[in-house]
Amino acid sequence: MSSRWFPCLSSPPPHLLLLVRQQSLVSASIPELLSFSSSTNQNLPRLSTSTLVPPSNDVNVYITTWSVVFQLFKLGPVESVCITVDSETSSKKEFCDWNFSEVLSDVCLTTSFLLSQKSYSRGITIRFRTEDESKAFHCAFEQWKNEVIGGSAGECLENGSLLTSRSKFDNKIEAASAKMYFHYYGQLLHQQNMLQDYVRTGTYCAAVIENRADFIGRVVVDVGAGSGILSLFAAQAGAKHVYAVEASEMAEYARRLIAGNPSLAQRITVVKGKVEEVELPEKADILISEPMGTLLVNERMLESYVIARDRFLVPKGKMFPTMGRIHMAPFSDEYLYVEVANKALFWQQHNYYGVDLTPLYGPAFQGYFSQPVVDAFDPRLLVAPATFHTIDFTSIKEEDLYEIDIPLSFIASVGTRVHGLACWFDVLFNGSTVQRWLTTAPGAPTTHWYQLRCVLSQPMYVMAGQEITGRLHMVAHNAQSYTMYLTMSAKMWGAGAEQGGILQTSSCKLDLKEPYYRMSQPQAYAWSQDQQPHQLVHAQDVVGPGLTPPSQNSAAPLNR
Ligand code: SAH
Repeated sequence: MSSRWFPCLSSPPPHLLLLVRQQSLVSASIPELLSFSSSTNQNLPRLSTSTLVPPSNDVNVYITTWSVVFQLFKLGPVESVCITVDSETSSKKEFCDWNFSEVLSDVCLTTSFLLSQKSYSRGITIRFRTEDESKAFHCAFEQWKNEVIGGSAGECLENGSLLTSRSKFDNKIEAASAKMYFHYYGQLLHQQNMLQDYVRTGTYCAAVIENRADFIGRVVVDVGAGSGILSLFAAQAGAKHVYAVEASEMAEYARRLIAGNPSLAQRITVVKGKVEEVELPEKADILISEPMGTLLVNERMLESYVIARDRFLVPKGKMFPTMGRIHMAPFSDEYLYVEVANKALFWQQHNYYGVDLTPLYGPAFQGYFSQPVVDAFDPRLLVAPATFHTIDFTSIKEEDLYEIDIPLSFIASVGTRVHGLACWFDVLFNGSTVQRWLTTAPGAPTTHWYQLRCVLSQPMYVMAGQEITGRLHMVAHNAQSYTMYLTMSAKMWGAGAEQGGILQTSSCKLDLKEPYYRMSQPQAYAWSQDQQPHQLVHAQDVVGPGLTPPSQNSAAPLNR
């Protein structure tokens, strides 16, 4: 990176100064040069040349936040175009006075329209000396735009619309969903909920500190930094520099938290924006992130983690966490089944204030069974050893997360009624010194992710030793979650069965975005502090329970 951009990233200025001088572009952050108050002048338009006297053959363009909208596009590795447009409320005089003829040979006016009293979009092309300078400038520009005008300027011009390249995130995620999502993470109470999950935060801290060797002197990118906690851990472990990328308003709080830890602050730069959109001035040696949602994949943030890998990580760079596994096992829980089924009983009433509700009993019943149940359950409810599906964050393609298809095959340990599929996940920090797992398995210390169970509306009967087959097919949707299609089958030998038996099959469709949080009563049985996830998945291994209520605030709708 070009070091002169650095201070402007760590403490983004309200202004950028483009100083064009004989084939070179010099850039600087100069808030002190303009008398500016963002609180009072936010809506005043202005794009003006400097009132300062520029050096003779320079052109200074002060881009202020006063609602002139403009965008910067790359034309090539060292060439860009800056499009500006006056806004409705702009001061026409000032804008029109902006003198493009002052622009020197390396900055040429590409468009300029003036119609009656209205001014329209204009563009200047800017040629940089080197690709690095171009990158550094774009990086600072993006940062400035996100900070000051929310990154949305310049989409609609009066004389046409700009073909802006929408980011991968915007292309696949519904704007309303993203808005709610980042609003949620912009609140300290939800960050606190994650920070207070001591299993989670403590494991991250240990994984980083125990693997200091992976951080000392290295450039780190924190993907979705939230409060900045992981960036601070990375800096504690000796990182040379950490870029803490955070899209929500939490970025501001992260800045404050980091500034309040001055021994670490000079090595951390908070970059506000989506990892799909921001530019960083240098590549990272290691990525750190906590992108796991319910069942690992909810929120679709793993895709952002993978995009960050492709955008920012050096070849063969490290990723913390390195890989994740979704574990699955059939379970038997009569009590849960009855509870879910009974919720629909309301609609069995024939005389509800004189109204027959029964026509809606069927859809209500299906509706309740389409909600995955989130709670901490006793691992003795599992009826077969679990299987798992691995996602290697270092190699998976982003598109491969759009659809996840997992074939299921289990051998029942006991004869019982199977009510569905229980799921949980773990992630591995594959450090050079220590390999550490963070697990959300039943029976392990409870995390704020708890576990997830898909309940079948038609339970199945199995005998000990019998095979249960099936499929869990998950299809990503644009509300940052997945539709889950579960099928489970087992052979049965009832009337009509031939020698080999006939297959009883039960299926359900669930929306991972609409879980039923069932945490009101304490249910988690902690039996081991052991971090080895493979030891936790065999129902028959489980020893005596000790009742442990969930230690976290359970009011988190995203259940991260
Ligand atoms: N790293 C923090 C926060 C984890 S929660 C911690 O461990 O405590 C995930 C964070 O990632 C949220 O704050 C969310 O706003 C942010 N985030 C999610 N998707 C993002 C994206 N595409 N770009 C930038 N930030 C993102």
